[in-house]
Amino acid sequence: MKNVKEVKSGIYRISLPQPVSGDVFVYLIKNDKVTLIDAGHPSSDSQACLVDALKELGVGWGDIDQLIVTHRDMDHIGALLSHADELDCKVFAGYPSKKEPKLYEQLEGIRPQLPDQFTEELLTKVTMDEIDFAHAEHLPITDLVKQGDVIDIGGGRVEVLETPGHSYDHISLYEPDSKLLFGGDVLIENGPPTKIIDLQQYLLTLDALKQKDVTEVFPSHGPVMYHHHDAIEQSITTIIDIDQKIITCLKDGSKSCYDLALQFNNGKVDEHLLFYIQLISNHLNRLKDKDIIIETDKGVSLQ
Ligand SMILES: [Zn+2]
Repeated sequence: MKNVKEVKSGIYRISLPQPVSGDVFVYLIKNDKVTLIDAGHPSSDSQACLVDALKELGVGWGDIDQLIVTHRDMDHIGALLSHADELDCKVFAGYPSKKEPKLYEQLEGIRPQLPDQFTEELLTKVTMDEIDFAHAEHLPITDLVKQGDVIDIGGGRVEVLETPGHSYDHISLYEPDSKLLFGGDVLIENGPPTKIIDLQQYLLTLDALKQKDVTEVFPSHGPVMYHHHDAIEQSITTIIDIDQKIITCLKDGSKSCYDLALQFNNGKVDEHLLFYIQLISNHLNRLKDKDIIIETDKGVSLQ
């Protein structure tokens, strides 16, 4: 089957479509226990694909002993929403270190800087986001896990690593015997991931992962990686480049987060602008913490 690949003996990487961008990969581990890592997007396409792939591997919903969710984003919790009744298994997920802010809350601080024509568009997006969020609060999670917890995968084990930054609840799973890392959305080829909820936490997570002896990273998006240090360095370089680009933009004077986002988006007011607003607002917090920029009545300027 073309969307299933055995990446290690008994470990299957299953590619599933998702509505917005790219594919999401979930992993089935068939040992004495059957473990599914992540559950795809709730869309009917994604779930039909997952059901077919599992069937191909001789697994029905009732055969799954445990499901481990790397984090509560929509493309990872799908089966928990659409197949909750058929799942009769343990469901592990991380403790959120903080409540995930709603988009509205996240943008609250910079809202006065947003022009009126943008607000309408923003509110539509916020409403969508809050619907998503409401689903994620009522998941059938049975076991909350934290750093250092060990999950028995039947003839093996995985260790839980808390890896916040992409989201506050993000966990990765480390299999110490073969030094495999199920990295969720933390490490992605040509990273960092597009969404980062807390940039400082994300950088700390990368530091911690650097210390780990890893031979292969099985990510939720993009190809399997064999050099996790390279993936980490790539993400750090991209983050520093964005900092530098913002500093360069501020050399001609004070600017608002919206102005900067617009500049990054080549002057276009489209659906990508919101992404840049979130991205830049994250970077501005980091640059403020590092005393590189200060707040002004127009937005921010260099110290
Ligand atoms: Zn994802």
